[in-house]
Amino acid sequence: MDDMDLLIDLHGNAMRQGPGSEADTMRAIDLSGLSEKQDLKIADIGCGSGASTLTLARTLDAQIVAVDLLPAFLTRLEEQASAQGLSQRITTLAASMDALELAPASLDAVWSEGAIYNMGFENGIKSWRPFLKPGGILAVSELTWLTPDRPAELTEHWSSEYAEVATASEKMAQLEAHGYVPIGYFPLPQSSWLDTYYHPMQERFGDFLARHGNSAQAQSIVDSERHEISLYERYAAFVSYGFYIARKRAD
Ligand code: SAH
Repeated sequence: MDDMDLLIDLHGNAMRQGPGSEADTMRAIDLSGLSEKQDLKIADIGCGSGASTLTLARTLDAQIVAVDLLPAFLTRLEEQASAQGLSQRITTLAASMDALELAPASLDAVWSEGAIYNMGFENGIKSWRPFLKPGGILAVSELTWLTPDRPAELTEHWSSEYAEVATASEKMAQLEAHGYVPIGYFPLPQSSWLDTYYHPMQERFGDFLARHGNSAQAQSIVDSERHEISLYERYAAFVSYGFYIARKRAD
């Protein structure tokens, strides 16, 4: 098994594959103004097993294309959509977020929770903008510094994992520079890291290691997750995901 298969095994059956919560998705929906509109077309990019996709489908009058690189996650989403009677509203697309063949100006909203880092925030907001209708909504969550200064250990870890980590004001300046009007922002609360993401993950470590005979490879995945969790527990005051809601500005 390669690392990717192990990561799918560790995260595939989870409720979510990154920090976030149903309440956060609902809050972003509120800020977006999408609830007032009908017959929406939405792409949920890097949807994983679809926690946000299911919330969008339940809440909005929308057709949603749920995009992820990993078919295993999309299969899990399809199972849940079917169990919840939401299949009619959701189609899945296995594709890379940096090579999407979506029609220009076809979407009312581009949604992406905890995933845009895979192609980089700036690259993502630039390359997804053409898919939005004029006035369409971009709603993305992205690793964000909460303070101008931070403990060196934290800065070093995240800067080496993700060079684009920055403060909300820097992210908003990028949105403005690339043709969006920011209309809402909030940092995810600690519960959206601990209760919905890290704690359930910690509960899976034992079975995961046992399934893989405590291999060094599986152990190293668990070690690196444990390191990330310990950093978060010590430094939650300095870092979170920021949820950015922005409107496409007229060209
Ligand atoms: N939005 C989900 C998943 C976040 S984890 C949630 O909040 O739970 C990031 C997701 O991005 C994973 O599902 C991963 O498979 C997906 N991903 C990684 N690289 C990708 C790429 N190049 N294109 C599309 N999806 C990608």
